[in-house]
Amino acid sequence: MITKQDKYTAAIYCRLSSDDGQLGESGSIETQKTLLTQYCKEQGFAIGEVYCDDGWSGTNFQRPAFQRMLSDIEDRRVNLVVVKDLSRFGREYAQMGIYIEHDFEENGTRFIAVSEGIDTINGTDNILMPITNVINSLYARDCSRKTKAAHRARAKDGKYIGGHAPFGYSKDPNDRHKLIVDPPAAEVVQQIFRMFAEGIGYVRMTKILREKNILNPQAYFNQNNPDYYKSEYWRKPFDWHATSVRVILSNPVYLGKLIFGKTKSKGFYSRKRVQAPEDEWIVAENTHEPIISEELWDTVQKMMASKRRETKQGEIQMFAGLVKCADCGSSLNVSYDAKKQKYKNFSCWVYKNYGSQRCTSHAIGWQTLNRLVLEDIRHHAAIASHHTKRYTEMLTQLGAAKQKQETDRQKRELKKAEKRLAELEKILNKLYEDRALERIGEERYQSMSTGYEAEQRELNEKRQMLTAAINQAEEVYSNVENFTRLIRRYTDVQELDAKTLNELIDRIVVHEKVVNPDGQKSQRMDIHYKFIGFLQVPIEALLAPSIPEMTVRIDPDGEPISA
Ligand SMILES: [Zn+2]
Repeated sequence: MITKQDKYTAAIYCRLSSDDGQLGESGSIETQKTLLTQYCKEQGFAIGEVYCDDGWSGTNFQRPAFQRMLSDIEDRRVNLVVVKDLSRFGREYAQMGIYIEHDFEENGTRFIAVSEGIDTINGTDNILMPITNVINSLYARDCSRKTKAAHRARAKDGKYIGGHAPFGYSKDPNDRHKLIVDPPAAEVVQQIFRMFAEGIGYVRMTKILREKNILNPQAYFNQNNPDYYKSEYWRKPFDWHATSVRVILSNPVYLGKLIFGKTKSKGFYSRKRVQAPEDEWIVAENTHEPIISEELWDTVQKMMASKRRETKQGEIQMFAGLVKCADCGSSLNVSYDAKKQKYKNFSCWVYKNYGSQRCTSHAIGWQTLNRLVLEDIRHHAAIASHHTKRYTEMLTQLGAAKQKQETDRQKRELKKAEKRLAELEKILNKLYEDRALERIGEERYQSMSTGYEAEQRELNEKRQMLTAAINQAEEVYSNVENFTRLIRRYTDVQELDAKTLNELIDRIVVHEKVVNPDGQKSQRMDIHYKFIGFLQVPIEALLAPSIPEMTVRIDPDGEPISA
């Protein structure tokens, strides 16, 4: 520790060599000497000796005067080193740092670089900023090597060594190296895996999570650890980022295993981390309770591997989330052939996960579905272009007829809900008054108000839903023209993409195959367009005979049989 003391005996150190370039008069040994002598006098330092390395490079410390100075420091003959600037002392920062921050400090030798205003009496932490990074990294290198070795040893034992438990788990209060399931967060993790397996892409998923008001991992952590520092992220507790979803989906911790050393830093001076070869990983199995089944994990990993197909909208494949099972209403999952790098078949997610007691396969080839949807869009587009007036009229009529009934019913229901809400408001106020005037007891008040409040909450939700539905229905009318205008643009569409599908289609409902009397199988598919819904029958009636039915004949492989 360097402390202020009365008696300083200075070592004035000067150095100059050809590799310092042209420093002019101000850099000459003579000038350095004069300047530093004057400085020491002003500061009241006794001058022990002037050390001059004239013609010696600063890139190493094998300089005669410098070495002599070091031994004089060790002998306590001097306790202050004064240089004009750091580069006089040396140009090899790592070693300089060791001298200044370590050796000098250890034996109480003060160091001053006059031009830079560096003085170790103020501590060595901040004043050596230009070089400390390098030095720190040097020490860090050694430390991190030691820490890493310790980490690897713990990881081999299956001990959790992270700072915080991964989202979905918490640290066992009795053993901080053990993970235990954190049920509410684990539930969210499971939802994320399931949604992804259903074909919902990262971006869409973040939206769903936000709409469901699900706390993001950071916010969830903050909520449960109120004493921790809260990052800015906390301000948007329901905002999920695609990255956090991806991180969760690719963390094998949810399988009950711990993997250490999946990434390593690229080089010591680089913060960039690169994938470590798999044989360098340390995998500890069954270290804690899994949250995700192996099957679900495998499905998700396969789908993630195909994520290069992800569109800008963040969909894994363009039909993701659009294709529904006609019987159970769940999404159809698509299988992916990694070798051929293409999608194979859609099949009901419930059937795939829960088997034949819950649903049937509803399998349909990706190519088949793609072709049929493309054809249907093109047909709509053709009619809308060539028979614009009739098409619009038909849609309006159809929409009006179908919607009016439904909307009227919703409006009636809304009125009823609003009436009851007004009543409840009065009842609750009265109840509160009665309690305040002690006309009824606390217990009775509690039991009565709880029931009314629950009813109120329920009705409020219902009111919201109905209002939204009514507004949407009214949009349908105004959107008929927009839709006609929109679909006309797709007359010549050659290939589908996520943007087209999302713009036009609400959902595609796939029915189970049926065997016709002639022994051939056929399968029905309903395409529900946005704004206008499912339109098969009137279209058939209206249009030219060349338009095929949406029911296709298929061969045993599930491929369509062309007529
Ligand atoms: Zn189903």
